[in-house]
Amino acid sequence: MSKYEANVDMARRRQAQREASALLRQTNPAHRLRLRMQDMLLKHAWIREELPWKTHTPILYPEKVEHECSSCVVTRHGGFKMWWKRNPRPDQDDNELYKCHKCYFTGPEAMPEGYEDIKEPITRALKARKIELDGPNSIPQKKKQGRPRRPS
Ligand SMILES: [Zn+2]
Repeated sequence: MSKYEANVDMARRRQAQREASALLRQTNPAHRLRLRMQDMLLKHAWIREELPWKTHTPILYPEKVEHECSSCVVTRHGGFKMWWKRNPRPDQDDNELYKCHKCYFTGPEAMPEGYEDIKEPITRALKARKIELDGPNSIPQKKKQGRPRRPS
């Protein structure tokens, strides 16, 4: 195979991959929820820190960290910025166990307690549920960016 043919072949394979993952997003709600939640978890501290996550808690590191996922038992080369850390269980001493997002987030049951039936748009639905469960001031305001306020 010539270099040109190899490049064309690679481009075709990439295109096929893109189409496959687009199809997966469209047809598999659990997959879409996982991607949406990953996005939200990376962006919003209150979603990581203030929702009643069940068996594991999302941990966001400033840099990628390599842990061994307790489900796929693969130490990903380069690691991830976000991991799911098993909540302490007093009867067992294996608390340092992690799951990658793909293994932890398999569907709505991975959502926090009381958030399992959230529908899209996810951002709005999460906020609405948080307010419903914890009251109108339960979502921390985003810090305003820009000019510091002048003392009046
Ligand atoms: Zn995994």
